[in-house]
Amino acid sequence: MLDKRQFYINGTWCDPVAGQDLQVINPSTEEPCAVISLGGVADTDMAVAAAKAALPDWMHTDPRERLALVERVLDLYKARAEDMAQAISLEMGAPIDLARSSQVGAGTWHISNFIKAFEQIEFISPLGEHAPDDRIIREAVGVCALITPWNWPMNQVTLKVIPALLAGCTMVLKPSEIAPLSSAIWSEILHEAGTPHGVYNMVNGDGPGVGTQLSGHPDVDMVSFTGSTRAGIAISKNAAETLKRVHLELGGKGANIIFADADEKAVKRGVAHCFQNTGQSCNAPTRMLVERAVYDQTVEQARELAEGTSVGPAHESGRHIGPVVSQMQFDKIQDLIQKGMDEGANLVAGGLGRPEGVNRGYFVRPTVFADVTNDMTIAREEIFGPVLSILPFDTEEEAIRIANDTVYGLTNYVQSQDGARRNRLARRLRAGMIEMNGKSRGAGAPFGGMKQSGNGREGGVWGIEDFLEVKAVSGWANDAE
Ligand code: NAD
Repeated sequence: MLDKRQFYINGTWCDPVAGQDLQVINPSTEEPCAVISLGGVADTDMAVAAAKAALPDWMHTDPRERLALVERVLDLYKARAEDMAQAISLEMGAPIDLARSSQVGAGTWHISNFIKAFEQIEFISPLGEHAPDDRIIREAVGVCALITPWNWPMNQVTLKVIPALLAGCTMVLKPSEIAPLSSAIWSEILHEAGTPHGVYNMVNGDGPGVGTQLSGHPDVDMVSFTGSTRAGIAISKNAAETLKRVHLELGGKGANIIFADADEKAVKRGVAHCFQNTGQSCNAPTRMLVERAVYDQTVEQARELAEGTSVGPAHESGRHIGPVVSQMQFDKIQDLIQKGMDEGANLVAGGLGRPEGVNRGYFVRPTVFADVTNDMTIAREEIFGPVLSILPFDTEEEAIRIANDTVYGLTNYVQSQDGARRNRLARRLRAGMIEMNGKSRGAGAPFGGMKQSGNGREGGVWGIEDFLEVKAVSGWANDAE
């Protein structure tokens, strides 16, 4: 069993001061595969103190120095890609091919995009011709607590650590205690890249422990959090005492609106996207809204696709979906499937229990419910498993109303050959991202939500700006440096 009890603080690996052991469970086997330590107050304090001490120098480095560090991180990240894929696959159950291509690939993509976006950041710029002695300075927010979930570990970690570094912030990363192995490798990469001592620190811990200590810490200036809406609320409340900046990337209940004129691959794309990563994505299109004229055939197609989706262990190569991450998630998904049946949705594929022939591992049956109404629990709550809800609609207005009738607002999807209609919907759907006809967002596009899906934007220029303060200066000496 891997021993990953140490924390990375002030440029060195150190033993926990107030740690408690926690086993990391392989979701394919339910067996422990590693042990980590959950830190306590003394560990959190040490990491924050290191970040605070490193801040004055790091925030005033030449931005090109910070860029050079991130470029080294990218090279090392690529060199450790296979280690990273193995760690992610083991800790959270992503099938190894998905871990290599999408889980690790997302990190490479974000780091590369930040390097490009960095060119557009003006750390000092004139206010305008009307005020020649004014300058706008953008500077680091300060010491940041970065708290990440288990479902896309390196996607989330790179979306926070890299822009924080580029902005000149110092930081303490607290990865998910359920999937901490990839972040241990990440910390080795940051170390090898030559990150100055104290700029980047990593402490493992849980929400009530290190997570809460960070969000309430008087020396932390900003919390950047990705995870559940529940934890986002707790963090906001705790951070309010010290008026920190709080950046939140939370849950979702994406609508995928399929009109009768959608392209022929739309349903297949929608089902595959809902089940990708075993349904454990905040932007999963979990509510498929289908125009009545093509409703019956779509339900039939979704049933066939779900029944044709194979489920298997994470270490096996192939296009199957893996287990869900934990016993807790497995139980939660089972409860929600039961609620779907109890509340009168029509179960057309999958259902309760493990797939046939499987008796170990957190494997869930790819499940499709039809005739779902938007007031049912399965249409309202984030399930975070391979469970699709299909709802019929008659008019464009009704589709917009159903799609917007949710506390979430992360990603919505539209499938139609009618360009004018697509553009109308893009304006009227209340979500941070609208993806249409299977076109994914371009490099550097901002990722983030509205309403209870959060308030931050990650990726590209927006992602870096989130870690910057704006300072207005007058009386600037134009004849000096
Ligand atoms: P979670 O909220 O349980 O945990 C996320 C992280 O927060 C973990 O590191 C955890 O230890 C920590 N945490 C938990 N409670 C805390 C508290 N009170 N104070 C401080 N830290 C706390 O979420 P999860 O189960 O790990 O991840 C799944 C959730 O993440 C889903 O709701 C999903 O939609 C969301 N998510 C959102 C995005 C996005 O960008 N919008 C991306 C990925 C995942």
